[in-house]
Amino acid sequence: MVSNATRRLIRQRAKSLCEYCHSPEYLSPDRFTIDHLLPQSLGGSNDEINLALACHRCNTRHYNFTTAIDPLTQVTSPLYHPRQQLWGDHFIWTADGLRILGITSIGRATCHRLDLNDDFHDEGAIVDARWFWVQGGWHPPIDDPKEV
Ligand SMILES: [Zn+2]
Repeated sequence: MVSNATRRLIRQRAKSLCEYCHSPEYLSPDRFTIDHLLPQSLGGSNDEINLALACHRCNTRHYNFTTAIDPLTQVTSPLYHPRQQLWGDHFIWTADGLRILGITSIGRATCHRLDLNDDFHDEGAIVDARWFWVQGGWHPPIDDPKEV
């Protein structure tokens, strides 16, 4: 059980962005969830070092996975770890701000496992939502690297 104080800390630390897809919580109808980096089912703790803010979409797809196939090399790679790695070292936004590109094996494997661009679910709507956020000037986050 994660305490309310820890939840507040996780939310502030993440600047209210999903730590995987960088969706802003304030544009979501639901409060984001607290994701366990090492799943509880595999012995992961409720310590803040094992926790990340995640939207429902990413948390559901993260499930209890810690690895995925890098679609470029077909090699199994660990998933992106927000406590140990920097988002911008593994991902960039396309110039139009609609899609996340994995620029490392970890980035590509995470894009694939978490389906960060609706490539694997016909009913995905995240790319559509981003289009509206870009029109509103709310997205992508100002400090995120972008394709040039
Ligand atoms: Zn997300």
